[in-house]
Amino acid sequence: MKRRSYHRYRYNRYYKLYQKINALQKKRLADYTMQKMTECVLFLVLGICLLFLYQMLVFPRINLEGNRVVEVEYQGKYTEPGYASSYFGKNLSLMVEVEGEVDTSKVGEYPITYQVTYHGFSTTKTRIVKVVDSSYPKITFTTDAKKLYLCPDSKYLYDDYQAFDNYDGDITDKVKVTESGGRLKYVVSDTFGNKTVVKRDVLYKDILGPTIELDSGDVVTLSIGDTFMDSTYQVSDNCDSNVKVEVHGDVDTSKAGIYERVYTATDSSSNTTEKVQKVMVFEPSKQGVIYLTFDDGPRSGTTDIILNILKEENVKATFFVTNSGPDDLIQRAYNEGHAIGLHTASHDYSVVYASSDSYFNDLDQVYQRVKNLTGEESKIIRFPGGSSNTVSRKYSPGIMSFLTQEVVRRGYRYYDWNIDSRDAEGGKFDADQIADFVTSKLSHDKVNMVLMHDTKVTTTQAIRKIIQYGKSHGYLFDKIGPYTDMVMQHVNN
Ligand code: ZN
Repeated sequence: MKRRSYHRYRYNRYYKLYQKINALQKKRLADYTMQKMTECVLFLVLGICLLFLYQMLVFPRINLEGNRVVEVEYQGKYTEPGYASSYFGKNLSLMVEVEGEVDTSKVGEYPITYQVTYHGFSTTKTRIVKVVDSSYPKITFTTDAKKLYLCPDSKYLYDDYQAFDNYDGDITDKVKVTESGGRLKYVVSDTFGNKTVVKRDVLYKDILGPTIELDSGDVVTLSIGDTFMDSTYQVSDNCDSNVKVEVHGDVDTSKAGIYERVYTATDSSSNTTEKVQKVMVFEPSKQGVIYLTFDDGPRSGTTDIILNILKEENVKATFFVTNSGPDDLIQRAYNEGHAIGLHTASHDYSVVYASSDSYFNDLDQVYQRVKNLTGEESKIIRFPGGSSNTVSRKYSPGIMSFLTQEVVRRGYRYYDWNIDSRDAEGGKFDADQIADFVTSKLSHDKVNMVLMHDTKVTTTQAIRKIIQYGKSHGYLFDKIGPYTDMVMQHVNN
């Protein structure tokens, strides 16, 4: 072996050794790093665990119900969604202190903090309440919201809408209106960008009829022989001033009855309005005649006695019946030639004078009873207490003023009285006194409309005396007919 190759051999051997040692050292360094890193992670996990455990062991817990961020409408109502607190099963909810207030009258964010302290350790949680305005402005119209009818050849005046927002208030002046293709578009936004769009059809067409008011009212009352004159009238139209009025219907003032005069107003777009005037032609009032009228019946034991006496004396009278008493007495009175009038079904002031609807509903019940029993559609009525009563004011101020007009408008005639027998005043007077009250008031110069009650025993005792007095003093007796002139007292309510 040459020296040179020996050196090489030696060098190679050291070099390989060096390489071996070097590899070993690298591996050791890697292992060491790995080991340290694992330790580090372990410590970290252990630390977190300890921290968690520490927290669990030491701090009380708070659980918030509902969301951590809650939205409430502007000017709405914020209701606490609820919370609970505990420490190892011990309920601490009552110890939670809640701080923060929500003012829903101001848009904004409001933090609410929940804090509980137990054995010196506190836990705090926060909820955010956002007061927001998410309501849309409202556009309202004084005319139809879906369709707007304008007069032909007219211009829209932009005066029939309003916009209101819960936050901004009246924002009518912020509404932008555009018209295209027969449609109007209204757009408005509030401060928070809530935008409302309303679309509406616009038609240039007159669809409204004219209005017509008759100067002499909807009902005219006349006596046979009077002259009927057509009413003057006031007429107007939304679109044109050229309105035609035609009048139809015959009135024969030589015959008692109810006639209709129809006033028809027509505008240039052929819209029509009709007004019907009732013309009632009454028989002339019969001076000196006695109308005996009996209210509140029928009643067994009194009405039948009165019917017997009327039959014996051959006198016809008028019975203003209610829904009380036996049916056969109404039928008997009708069959024996007496007039059946309507006094209301219940005769209960609190019912009949509660309202106009209530009155007519009650009246209709007695109307139906009489119709069923007699076949007659009675149109003669007497108000409980008379038209001058003031009791009704307690239930409906002004109702008599309305009803006295309305009953006539509906084709009824009402009859008050001008002689009161005072037989209904709680048995204060005996038969002779009652007869005296009547006979002392009789007159040949007036219609004698006598108020009595066929429900009273004293009346059954007084009636023959009254009839005999009347007969011996030249009076005639009659019943109220369908066109007997109305006898009316002064209305006080
Ligand atoms: Zn009565």
